[in-house]
This record gives sequence, C-alpha cells and structure tokens, in this order.
Amino acid sequence: MAWNLNPLVDSTDLEHLKTRMEQLITEAEKLGKDYRGKITSLDAKRLLKLLKRIEKNILERESVLKYARLKYSANSLDPEAKQLSDLGRTAEMKIQQETAFAMIEVTQLLTKNPELVDNPTLAEYRHMLEVILRRAPHILTEDQEKLMIQKDRFGIDSFYRLQQDWLTTRTFKIKIDGKLKEMPYGEITALYEHPDRQLRKESNRTVYSKLEEDEILWASAIRALFGDHLETCKLRKWPTPLTQSLIDNDVDEKTIKALMDTVENHVELYRRYLRLKTRLMKLPKLANYDILAPLPDMPDRKFTWGQARTLVIDSFKSFDPEFADIVDHMFEKRRIDAQVRKGKSSGAWCASWLSGNSAFILLSFNGAIGEVFTLAHENGHAVHSVLMSSKLSPLNTDISFGVAETASIFGELLLAEKLIAQAKTKEEKQEVLAKILDEFGMTVFQVSARFFFETWLYEATKRGEYLDGKTISKYWTKARDKMYGDTIEWLPEMDWEWTMKVHYYIPRFRYYNWPYVFGNLFVFALYRLFKEQGAAFVPKLKALLASGSTKSPREMGAELGFDITTPEFWALGMKQAEEFLKEFKSLVEE
Ligand SMILES: [Zn+2]
Repeated sequence: MAWNLNPLVDSTDLEHLKTRMEQLITEAEKLGKDYRGKITSLDAKRLLKLLKRIEKNILERESVLKYARLKYSANSLDPEAKQLSDLGRTAEMKIQQETAFAMIEVTQLLTKNPELVDNPTLAEYRHMLEVILRRAPHILTEDQEKLMIQKDRFGIDSFYRLQQDWLTTRTFKIKIDGKLKEMPYGEITALYEHPDRQLRKESNRTVYSKLEEDEILWASAIRALFGDHLETCKLRKWPTPLTQSLIDNDVDEKTIKALMDTVENHVELYRRYLRLKTRLMKLPKLANYDILAPLPDMPDRKFTWGQARTLVIDSFKSFDPEFADIVDHMFEKRRIDAQVRKGKSSGAWCASWLSGNSAFILLSFNGAIGEVFTLAHENGHAVHSVLMSSKLSPLNTDISFGVAETASIFGELLLAEKLIAQAKTKEEKQEVLAKILDEFGMTVFQVSARFFFETWLYEATKRGEYLDGKTISKYWTKARDKMYGDTIEWLPEMDWEWTMKVHYYIPRFRYYNWPYVFGNLFVFALYRLFKEQGAAFVPKLKALLASGSTKSPREMGAELGFDITTPEFWALGMKQAEEFLKEFKSLVEE
C-alpha cells in the first residue's frame, strides 16, 4: 500500500539527484541560448524541431522532479524528502523562468504567420497551435503584462489570500456529546455529513453565522474581484466575462448555453430525487443540512485493501480488459500510495508519469465505501494517462478541465454498477445509488446555481449596482432557488453560503464553476451511450481518451456522432441520471 518510487530515478542518492537537477537547469539555459529572440522567424520545419526539443526536455526532467515531489507528498516529515522537495521546487522555478520565453515567442510567430497552424509539417500539433493562436489577440504588450502582475500581487491576489487565510485560521466552537469542542474549518465541515441530524444542523449554523459576521470583508472582496475582471476583459478584448474560461477550456459559448439550458430544463429530476430522499429520511421536509446526509439504516460496511483492489479491477474489466490491465499494473508495480501516514499530504490525486507510460496515485485508505470510489476514480485518471502517453507526445497531453474527469467518473460509474450487482440487501443498493445521485445533484445542479450567480453578479456590476453583502446574498438565494425550488428548508445563515466558495475569489481564473457541470454531464452522456451501444462503444471511448489534447471536446463529440453544442447531447447525460433515479425509486417503493 506504499509507493515504490525507485523506478523514477537511477539512484536515490541525494548528491546524485542534486547534480541531475543542475544538469536540467543547464539544459533549459541552453534552450534559451539557442532560441531566445529567434523563434519569430522560424519556418514550419524549424518550429517542429523546437517543439520536439521542448518535449525531449520535458521527458528528461519529468522523472527526477516527480521523484522529489512524490517523496515529499508521501512523507513531509522525512528531512531528506524535505530537502529534496526544496531542491526540486527551486529547479522547477528556474527552468520555468528560463523557458517561459519559448511559448511567448511561438505566440508571436503564429500571430505573424497564422497559416503555420495548418502546415502539414506541424500536423501533429495542429490543435495546440490553434489554441495558442486563439489566445494571442488577448495578450498585452510585455510592459502591460508586467504591470498586470504587479497590480494583481497587491490587489486581487490579496483578497484571494485573505479569504483562504480566514478559512484556515478560524476555529469554531461546537457542542459534541455535551462537551464544547473547538475545531478548525476543515474539521467542522466534516460534520455536515454526520449521521446525527442535530450535529449537522449545528455545524452548518456555527460556520455560516461566523461567516456572516464578516460580511463586509466578503462583499469587498467580491466587488474587487468581479470589478477587476470586467476591467481586464476590456483591456484584453474578451467580449464577455465568460470568454477567458471558454478559451482555457477549449469550448465555445454555444456549447455552454446548451449545457446550462439542459440543466435548467431538468431541475425537476433533481427535485424528484430530493423528495424521495425526504421520504426515506422520514422527514416532512428536507433541510439544507440533509441534502448530503447519509440515509438511515445503512449497512456499516468496511472493505479490505484486497477486496477494494479486486472490486476496482473487476469494475474496469467489465468495460474493457485493457483498462483492467492498466489498473492491475498500478497495484502490481506499487504505483498507489494508500497507507494512512503522518506527514502525508491530504486528499487524493493521480500524477501521470509520461516517460514511464504510467502514473502515481495518492490517497488514504481506511476501508470506507467512499474510499473505494476514490480508488476507482484515481485509477480512471491513470487509465486516461496511460492511454494518452502511449500514443501522444507530451505537448499533446494537456487535456482541458472539462474532459479531464472523463475516465475517472466513468470508473466510478462502473464501480457503482458492480457494487449494485453484488449487493446482498436493498440497503446496500440504496447506499450506492444515493451516493451517485447525491454527487450528481451537487456537481450538476448546485454548481450550476453558482454559474447563474456569477453571471448575475457580473451583470449587476456592469449596471453599476452597489453590491453589499445583503445584495450579493439576494442573488445567491435566487440562483439557489432556481435549482432547488421549494424542496429544501434553508437555515437563514445559508444566505451567506457564497462567502466560503473559493472559486469566486481565484484571480485570473474566473468563471471556474461550469467546467464541473460540463465534466459530469459529459461523462453521464458517454455512459448512456455505453449502455445503449454496448461493446461497440468501447473502442470509441478509448479513442476519445487516447486523443489527449489533440482535439477539442466538440471534435471529440463529433467523432461519437454528436454535436455537443446542442441540448440533445447533454440530455443524454440527464437520461442516464434518470435511469439511476428510476432504480432508486423502485427500491424506495418496494
Ligand atoms: Zn479527478
């Protein structure tokens, strides 16, 4: 259950690794000497040579830098890992500084010679060059760009840091079993899904009333960030506040409109689920702190590592033997660190290892069913990564956010189906279906509320409306109610829910809620196609995953025979959710 990181390096000796990192920096400097100031006059053939050289450098430095990073994530208390991590980070920063010029100059070259995008010599990189060219008109002069960085550093960046610092430094007092306890944000929010209803209610009330107290702070930050983005749009000639996120995610506005229209037209699906959950919980009405609550009378199941391994591999096998082989190699080669360990980084993630045609997964496994889902999710990422790296060069594996979760969520759905098939009781089935539907509801409908909220805030700012805390809350509750209707009884403190969501505060990364909706519904649509087409669908999904970032999501959809700019495609995802809901309903009524 612990990583074997040795295959990443030819020696784990610290001095040796230090020398290797110095060589990598020298290599990056060499690139600068050979190309700085010369890229804008390259022809197709010489541009290809440059791209190949950049990729060679990426692959050369990948393993040793990954070794440094992973060793530290596995145990930050290990002094050698700490030292190595510092060395790695410094090297990465230096390399970035040395090589940043290349893509800036490539952008200038393409602006001068846009026909290079379609040059057959560069066919392998066509889509990447196209995306660079799409960004080009929004880049400012070098001096302006420098000024932007300076302005942000003490401007909107401070609001973002302030929001983060507030959340990480506050403590909250709450009574548990008659005893008053004081806990940090990360700990008290875990109580939101506690089986004890009173505790769920109190934890919500405690956190949100404290957030409300500082409403002046949050409203100031929101006004600054939203106002700043609108000014930036004018400066960078982004026609709408949404444009930046569209370019970054490689989609067009028509697609997002179709996606959001589909969500709006299917709110009743989510509400029907919430009403069923109300019945199962034997409540007159669901409160906001019940939305993600565990169902009553659920089996207390624990999985061993061996059981989890078999389950996850079998789930992928039910789709395709090659998928199962990839997942099997992840376990066999010890590419998964699942041990619970002091000093280990929190959360769960998968880091691809391109040159090794593999990946490394980190998570903490205690045997809960949710962790088996996480294991399937991260192994899905590993499958995606291996399918890409075996066919594509590194610059073509930079997948956009909206499709990055395709294999991972697909893996979760395969696992859900396996667990349902193996379930011994009705409750075991209900538990799995509720998990899928709870998550779907949150990522598709709750997150869509955030999209409408953002849109209204930009519109209000443009109109010159003064956004104080109460006005912002009014927009939030309006967006929330658009999704939930009258299915939920909200604590009054929940009017301030917008204050804690980090996505509203991230500078230069605006409108970053909708990609979650996109990603989820995209996978549900693909899963629906799998259910309808069976084995014929398998090679299609594999081709989609293996195409990495060489195609836009729209082109990927077209190859499956769909137009993602139409609501019909997105409705397929809703149809799949409807199937899960039907199954859930039949169990409730049994
Ligand atoms: Zn993921």
